Amino acid sequence: MDHQGVPLRGAVVTPDRSTPAMHDAPRAPAMHAMAMLRPRRWLKRVAAACRTRLQARFLGTVMRVETGEPIAALTFDDGPHPRNTPRILDVLERHQARATFFMLGCNVERYPDVVAEVRRRGHAIGNHSWDHPAFPHVPACERRRQLAQTDQALGRPTLRLFRPPFGSLDGRSRLDLLRARHQVILFDVQAEDWLGHPAGQLVENIRRDMRPGSIILLHDALFSAEQPEYSCRRATIDAVDQLLATMSDYSFVTVPELLERGRPEKTFWVNPGDPEWIGQLTRIDYETDAAIAE
Ligand SMILES: [Zn+2]
Repeated sequence: MDHQGVPLRGAVVTPDRSTPAMHDAPRAPAMHAMAMLRPRRWLKRVAAACRTRLQARFLGTVMRVETGEPIAALTFDDGPHPRNTPRILDVLERHQARATFFMLGCNVERYPDVVAEVRRRGHAIGNHSWDHPAFPHVPACERRRQLAQTDQALGRPTLRLFRPPFGSLDGRSRLDLLRARHQVILFDVQAEDWLGHPAGQLVENIRRDMRPGSIILLHDALFSAEQPEYSCRRATIDAVDQLLATMSDYSFVTVPELLERGRPEKTFWVNPGDPEWIGQLTRIDYETDAAIAE
């Protein structure tokens, strides 16, 4: 069922034969009127179901993949970061895990050595825009510039994965991404590591929602934060270490590998984002932020 309660798959909608009016002879005119209305309602429902399926198929964003295998994908947004990203790479290597890093073009340009190291260790890289605007709130030409400039900084990747900043997307920005041939990757598990939670809470948040085929949202840096101290990534790094140590029955793979091993589950995602909340965030300077305690 979709969010409007419309059956999506194998939809066979039959009239409700238990309705008293159907068996009530003296109210025949009313019955006739209802019978006339029902095909129209039925057609409307079928049209809505078709529209939802088409939107999900052609404009849908990947939330997870359907698989019975114990595999999942860790994803890290807003990097690369000169100190946090290498530490996360070490944790991943210790547990023989692979991950996907959705990078900001402005930081790719600033820290090319970190990008090269991420690649060298076999992780995947996706586009997270140039400098993190909410796509529904910028003009189309700016969206295209953000995409193209970041792709160029990443060396024009053949596999174009995109994660929208703030998870914010509307129909127009989704069409721009379709034209630019970017596959939009969201997530079905959020650690909420942008709120300053301790590592144990982050692990609990992940384990609560994680299942085979999950895509997990984490951050190796924060481009902007509600509180500047939330930019510290120590809890995230510890949480990844604890998660990988305690979930050894799972394989953690890159998003491209996950997509090959299951059927992508897509949703037509519309989330315009809250410009007031975004406007209140503090921009973090990666050179001077608290980063992690040494
Ligand atoms: Zn982000």
